[in-house]
Amino acid sequence: MSLAVRNPRSGKEDYTLVAATADRVAETCAQLRRGQPAWAALTAAQRAQLLQQWKQALQQHRDAIVAALFADTGRMNESAMEFDTICHAIDRWCRDAPPWLHSGPPQQTSVPFLAVARQDVAIPLVGVISPWNFPLLLSLIDALPALMAGCAVAVKPSEITPRFIQPLQASIAAVPALAAVLAYLPGAGATGAALLERVDAVCFTGSVATGRKVGEAAARAFIPAFLELGGKDAALVLEGADIARSSAALAWGAMVNAGQSCLSIERAYVHQPLLQPLLEHLSDDIGKLRFCAGEDPCDGEIGPIISARQADIIRAHLDDARAKGATVVCGGEIERIGGGLWCQPTLLTDVDHTMLVMTEETFAPILPLMGVGGDEQALALANDSQFGLSGAVFCNDRDRARAVARRLQAGAVSINDCALTAIMHEGEKQAFKLSGMGGSRMGLVSLRRFVQRKALLENTDLTWDPWWFHSR
Ligand code: NAD
Repeated sequence: MSLAVRNPRSGKEDYTLVAATADRVAETCAQLRRGQPAWAALTAAQRAQLLQQWKQALQQHRDAIVAALFADTGRMNESAMEFDTICHAIDRWCRDAPPWLHSGPPQQTSVPFLAVARQDVAIPLVGVISPWNFPLLLSLIDALPALMAGCAVAVKPSEITPRFIQPLQASIAAVPALAAVLAYLPGAGATGAALLERVDAVCFTGSVATGRKVGEAAARAFIPAFLELGGKDAALVLEGADIARSSAALAWGAMVNAGQSCLSIERAYVHQPLLQPLLEHLSDDIGKLRFCAGEDPCDGEIGPIISARQADIIRAHLDDARAKGATVVCGGEIERIGGGLWCQPTLLTDVDHTMLVMTEETFAPILPLMGVGGDEQALALANDSQFGLSGAVFCNDRDRARAVARRLQAGAVSINDCALTAIMHEGEKQAFKLSGMGGSRMGLVSLRRFVQRKALLENTDLTWDPWWFHSR
């Protein structure tokens, strides 16, 4: 089946995706299963060597991949950053995974004549289903540790941003041992659903609504599902927070990638006396941001909104907030430039929890700010959410900031900054509430999702009579 793909800068459908059918999914998965035992039989160091060869091939295709990501998403700076982040991630996994994957000799147990050895058996075939907002990064964030663990991986990226698949596949083909265990299957939901019937585990990144379907399908197939879903991340600006610092961090946390990041700050609760000064500072900071809509796509900070459907959601949130009494401090409109849809960096105040913009994921460069009487009220409002992905706390009293952060119901909380999971991988975390389910994708423990652990229990006393029925 062919699908027309819209270009977010021109608004035109200028690319056609041919979706993988259920038969092609089955065939590809069978091929990957045939390739996986040889891949798993390599040492982790040998797999790391092959991933390093792939990194070289990726770098040879850099221009084509970044250009395709730019056409897919309409933003250039983030596409280049995405590419570089993946190259760093390959280096990190190649360096850090082999020691973790090392099994080691049997260890003495608490029972004098028993020793135990660990064996980690790679899950043969992992399915990855990924979203559009960081097409390359999110298609590989789980695939890399899975490959390092010895699994084969079938990736079904978003149908909204498929242009990068072709140049990426050319880089994979340059390393035949990797091409035997890593395949991309273009397509939409039907291709993803077909994939779920063929894999032994699934890593899904996307919306809560699709995540539920994926979780249900995985339960029926009796396979583990690792779900990384939506959020409504809160920032808490407490008494004693530094205004300039909070403002600069929030401007980045709420506006980067035009707010189309799962870890975007989407609402802020501010100690009431700080609200007005913070709004003034933020208006200045955000006023400096420009659309990168001109000839030079690197000139500017705010890219286009990915789709007309997403722009409709944003308009609905803004209309709902205005109708219920919100004040637009700056921005508040979606502009049409060159056929693309561009959301003005927006600050709202006089907001409350009856408004969609405070409760549902907006995915736009929009930050609503609400004044609060103190830490308890800030925490109660921040935790009054169906989501629990991440959040931020600002306060120069670091003990107080940490104490509040500990009570925030979210998997990752940045203190005196925003969205730090974007630049640091060590912090193991899980999503709370509807924001996800399953083991941490961050930190070395991420590898644990891709192996089945086996215990080899050994009676080391060969002189002992193991006739269990009368000897104890
Ligand atoms: P989406 O749920 O619409 O689609 C995600 C993927 O699921 C796509 O590849 C899609 O084709 C596929 N899919 C659709 N129906 C399916 C089905 N029935 N079975 C299997 N696969 C199916 O999400 P999106 O709009 O592409 O992405 C945006 C969402 O992703 C936002 O909610 C955002 O917060 C979330 N997200 C979360 C994280 C995280 O780490 N928690 C990271 C990035 C994005």
